[in-house]
Amino acid sequence: MSANKKLLVLPGDGIGPEVMEQVVRVVDWFGANRAVGFDVKQDLVGGAAYDEHGTPLTDDTLAAAMDADAVLFGSIGGPKYDDAPRDKRPEAGLLKLRKEMELFANLRPALTFEGLLDASSLKEDVVKGLDMLIVRELTGGIYFGEPRGVETMANGKRRGFDTQTYDEDEIRRVAAVGFELARERRHKVHSVEKANVMESGVFWREIVTDLHRESYADVELEHMYADNCAMQLVRNPKQFDVIVTDNLFGDILSDCAAMLTGSIGMLPSASLGAPDETGRRKALYEPVHGSAPDIAGEGKANPCACLLSYSMMLRYSFGLSEEADLVDQAVANVLRSGVRTPDIMGDGDTAVSTEAMGDALLQELDRLSA
Ligand code: NAD
Repeated sequence: MSANKKLLVLPGDGIGPEVMEQVVRVVDWFGANRAVGFDVKQDLVGGAAYDEHGTPLTDDTLAAAMDADAVLFGSIGGPKYDDAPRDKRPEAGLLKLRKEMELFANLRPALTFEGLLDASSLKEDVVKGLDMLIVRELTGGIYFGEPRGVETMANGKRRGFDTQTYDEDEIRRVAAVGFELARERRHKVHSVEKANVMESGVFWREIVTDLHRESYADVELEHMYADNCAMQLVRNPKQFDVIVTDNLFGDILSDCAAMLTGSIGMLPSASLGAPDETGRRKALYEPVHGSAPDIAGEGKANPCACLLSYSMMLRYSFGLSEEADLVDQAVANVLRSGVRTPDIMGDGDTAVSTEAMGDALLQELDRLSA
């Protein structure tokens, strides 16, 4: 790969910088050992940017994100900023970044690691070998639809309302992401809505069906109601390969799927935008967890979620599947060896610090590529 791909690293607040430090060591390892080099730029975001610049996302940082081939994000927030003005709070920085980059597809894998099967709340045989991906529409639907509000009706009573709305382009582009990803995986997509009770659900199903017939007939497509999907996720999650769904259902179902795998310290995510004329998509990769103020600065944070987000970046932004597999394998092997941060400790495991986990991961990368 040419060495001039641009990577913007935004560690953020709390445990963000701690976990990112370990990930940057892995980025450097790939530069030194596998000729996977990036032009890495590091910047402030969230509370850290607010402290320094009085805003959680400066125009310069936003411009760098728009220009980057990928953004690797840590986490933002913390009690220190509870009283900051709403538009200056750390979350506002992340929301603005997602909006400006038009990241409409949110990818949340649910993958179980052999060494962590006992961390799931489900029986081992239900989750063993689980490898599925939820693609959630992120910029449309009921969270953004108009009209919305609270109003007083003619009879003097008040009512609150939101609007679920999707146009066909919004549905097609997120469904296309799901089909494309399924082609790289096990060729199966479940499209999830509530066509039984919602007009927008009927429309969603129609558009996905058309797109499938026109362009993705090689992928198996099944439609499923969202309530049934929630049930199937805990009954038999291994039936799923890729789930494509809207913003609201995706919000709920992805959290449900996350818990199949155990600890929040292990969960990565990606958010993708539309491809430009060169085929390049804007993309932001981040762990699902927040800034964990309760353990920040104590060296207890698990860097795996952030590292697995980097692995998603290699896979989805740069097509480096072999390298991504190497990262995933290193994580799996280290966990199997019983080296764990406190959040994923089992009986008989050794609790190690964030940095020691980074050491173990680098040693494993050395061993795997020897
Ligand atoms: P959180 O994810 O930060 O923490 C929840 C629990 O999980 C805590 O007990 C924490 O110690 C633990 N945990 C989280 N990540 C871990 C890791 N990598 N290793 C070990 N343990 C880990 O969620 P929260 O406590 O609800 O929120 C804390 C702050 O983070 C808030 O300010 C919130 O707004 C912010 N937040 C940010 C993001 C983001 O940056 N995308 C996401 C969620 C929450």
